[in-house]
Amino acid sequence: MPARTGEEYIAGLRELAPEVYIGGERVKDVTAHPALSNGVRTMAKLYDMQHYSAIRDEMTYISPTTGDRVGRSFITPRTVQDLEQRHVMMSRWAKASCGTMGRTPDFLNVSMMSMAAAGDYFGENRPEFKRNIQRYYEHIREHDLVLTHTLVNLQRSRSPLATPLEDQTEVALSLTKETDAGIIVHGARVLATLGPLSDEIAVYPARSHRLPGGAPERYSFAFAIPCNTPGLKFLCRESFDLGRSHFDHPLGSRFEEMDAIVFFDNVLVPWERVFLLGDAERCNNMAMMTNQYTHSGHQVVTKNVVKCEFILGLASLMVHTLGSGQLPHVQQMIAEVIENLEITKACLRAAEVDAEVDQWGVMRPSPFPLMVARNLFIRMYPRMAEILHLLGSSSLMALPTKADLNGPLAPEIERYLETDTASAEERVRLFRLAWDMCCSSFGSRQVLYERFFQGDSTRNAVILYNLYDKEQATDWVREFLEQE
Ligand SMILES: Cc1cc2nc3c(=O)[nH]c(=O)nc-3n(C[C@H](O)[C@H](O)[C@H](O)COP(=O)(O)OP(=O)(O)OC[C@H]3O[C@@H](n4cnc5c(N)ncnc54)[C@H](O)[C@@H]3O)c2cc1C
Repeated sequence: MPARTGEEYIAGLRELAPEVYIGGERVKDVTAHPALSNGVRTMAKLYDMQHYSAIRDEMTYISPTTGDRVGRSFITPRTVQDLEQRHVMMSRWAKASCGTMGRTPDFLNVSMMSMAAAGDYFGENRPEFKRNIQRYYEHIREHDLVLTHTLVNLQRSRSPLATPLEDQTEVALSLTKETDAGIIVHGARVLATLGPLSDEIAVYPARSHRLPGGAPERYSFAFAIPCNTPGLKFLCRESFDLGRSHFDHPLGSRFEEMDAIVFFDNVLVPWERVFLLGDAERCNNMAMMTNQYTHSGHQVVTKNVVKCEFILGLASLMVHTLGSGQLPHVQQMIAEVIENLEITKACLRAAEVDAEVDQWGVMRPSPFPLMVARNLFIRMYPRMAEILHLLGSSSLMALPTKADLNGPLAPEIERYLETDTASAEERVRLFRLAWDMCCSSFGSRQVLYERFFQGDSTRNAVILYNLYDKEQATDWVREFLEQE
């Protein structure tokens, strides 16, 4: 089956009818529910982009098994050019939401591709797991399915050493039984971004939250199942799409990707959907050994470049509108955004140019530039939101709605809110966008997302510290010290 259209995606989701709850009620149809439907519509647009004749070749490639055109983010890259083309495709999807939908399907498409390509890693756990992961990847590629994922157990207590499990048996997702049909899992997981808008959910070990040494086997697994599997329940946070117009709420009214807690109530995972089982060490090392983390990093950093560009454009227009561009400290803040953009772009470029074929025969982007770019963005993004606050100040609150612009105070608004470079309406339109990017519940969630979606900054720094080869540098310093 070729790459799907938006309509096909929506029809599939409607038919799937996953068990989704919001505001104390079960959602009958996620494609029609006001909390979710605008996000679904944006997702549908992404799928339609695969069929725009001008960019179809950028967005899709020829499937190696069926000859159909399938989504380019599924490609198994063999050359640097493959990576560059994948980046162009992923940029287009990121731009469609101004970088605010982090979990567009390419994130998990590239992850599943890398896991399938490293099939032997899974096969060494049990031979049939290699076939399972490879068949699964082909299944999602050929059906153009949307995936969500949940890697982390709910917080209850956190020790400074590793994620504790024994005291959380009732909370952590765990295997309760093996049957002829598959494994039964029970417990809860966070946080399924895009969960209610997805066809399938992948559950695999988090690189950041390592299973503790000697972890019981029942916590060690990787699998993927349809979102409507019996016993699977998605509990949404409240929606940040407040049902307002694009004028009033430019981002939240379009790009609500939703996050959900996932409850697994004795869920049966068929054997053919199990990829790892009972091997804690193999689970802990999966993301790095298969290069899943590096390929997902390629998507994340591509999105980060797009997001920096958008913030730069937004900040520059704010400054232009308020006439503050001559102030040195304002220029310094815009310069900081430019630095963030250029550093992120340079890391992405370096990762592609220095890519090498890995042990699985896949062209792997150079991992450290991507890892560094990801870690830096955890600090860069909250600071960029702060810069928007500092540049906008009261204009982020002196913010009439569309109804106000047409209401009894319209003459006052028109007279007092215009600036030297913008009419009142232009100013309000721009600053409502800035507010939605950095102040609204939608904007605040963007900051929280960038801080945490890829693991917290401390654990990421610890991982970088431990992986990075520092020996060459220390040898050099030693040699210098030995000089007379
Ligand atoms: C908006 C958003 C979207 C998300 N989307 C997804 C998703 O789609 N899929 C998914 O699987 N996950 C998702 N996550 C979850 C994300 O992976 C976790 O939030 C992140 O890994 C941190 O884990 P935690 O929330 O359990 O916090 P904790 O692990 O409890 O950490 C909280 C704080 O305590 C510190 N800390 C606690 N224990 C330790 C320890 N042992 N070692 C070091 N530091 C420690 C951390 O540094 C951190 O600052 C999302 C999170 C957010 C906020």
